[in-house]
Amino acid sequence: MTWQFEHVTLGQRVLFGTGGAARNLAAEVARLGANRVLLVASEHEDQLAQEVTSRIDVAARCADVAPHVPVANAERARAQAAEAGADLLVSVGGGSTTGLAKAVALTTGLPIVAVPTTYAGSEATNVWGMTESARKTTGTDDRVLPVTVVYDAALTLSLPAELSVTSGCNALAHCVDSMWGPQTDPIDAALAGEGIRALANGLPLVRKDPEGLVGRERMLYGAYLAAVAFASAGSGLHHKICHVLGGAYDLPHARTHTAVLPYVLAFNAPAAREAAARIADALGTTDAVAGLISLYAELDAPRALRDAGLAEADIAEAARLILPAVPAANPRPVSEGEMTALLTAAWAGQDPAILT
Ligand code: NAD
Repeated sequence: MTWQFEHVTLGQRVLFGTGGAARNLAAEVARLGANRVLLVASEHEDQLAQEVTSRIDVAARCADVAPHVPVANAERARAQAAEAGADLLVSVGGGSTTGLAKAVALTTGLPIVAVPTTYAGSEATNVWGMTESARKTTGTDDRVLPVTVVYDAALTLSLPAELSVTSGCNALAHCVDSMWGPQTDPIDAALAGEGIRALANGLPLVRKDPEGLVGRERMLYGAYLAAVAFASAGSGLHHKICHVLGGAYDLPHARTHTAVLPYVLAFNAPAAREAAARIADALGTTDAVAGLISLYAELDAPRALRDAGLAEADIAEAARLILPAVPAANPRPVSEGEMTALLTAAWAGQDPAILT
């Protein structure tokens, strides 16, 4: 079959430099000619934010960060940006922090310079998300894509090993889902393959030596590739499942992605041979599912959704909520019974191979 595809590369400047965040941020603020910076960083991220912004003037600071960006927090942050006369948003933190800056950019059009401190990857996508009354709404808008990303692996050293693993598996999930997302194309698959390679290389290094910078650098590089691939390919089955679970049952983001990923891979792999072969190759093995399970074992990554907080009694309802969101282009059709079986296996942390 001949290739037919349309690929959009989002325009963004990336400054990658270990130990160089404060210097790179100051240069970028000067280049953009910004005078009134609104810093977005949670209380937990205060120390990192102080280091990173040590060479710039900060007009105001918003610490109103909460998981999944509640609409009320977004509105307060927007009011703060207006009150401060902000001309630039600088976010220093994980995906929740980047998400709050994006919510401000969505309505104000203010540019964002993002300084990520986890591997969530939100900094490289034009996707925003907000929650209201336990319902998560997401959308795409180029106004929320940070104009610049400042990567500094030293900022992720304080991320505890376990959170590093689940955050890294969240990035792996971006790569895997990009193989069959609704707008996937060969460019996304290439980026995702290299992302998996970098993450599979970096994750064990970080698990063994959380203070080591080499593993941290590889993970940031992999997380960026993962997010770029995902921004183009769009949400596949994995993200649709996690989106519903996160929004309806308030489950922790990275942990939920970590638990669900092996089961979606096991379910789709038999119907997506080329994607499975690429994933296996990137994991340095011949079987994608076995390769992922072996990586999880090496990382001691959490597998059971019940440990992430999902109640067994909610599985049937969750399956019903997820089903209408399953992308039509998913390599394998999903019945309600199959979705229930997938969630049940993930809930119990069973061997994912039972789904293949
Ligand atoms: P998070 O931002 O909620 O951070 C988790 C915890 O880690 C927080 O307590 C935070 O303060 C802390 N933390 C962050 N960096 C740290 C560091 N270097 N050292 C120590 N502690 C640190 O979690 P996350 O997994 O980064 O992001 C999840 C959110 O991002 C979700 O809301 C998700 O929907 C969103 N997300 C959005 C996109 C997108 O494209 N829009 C992509 C991925 C994730």
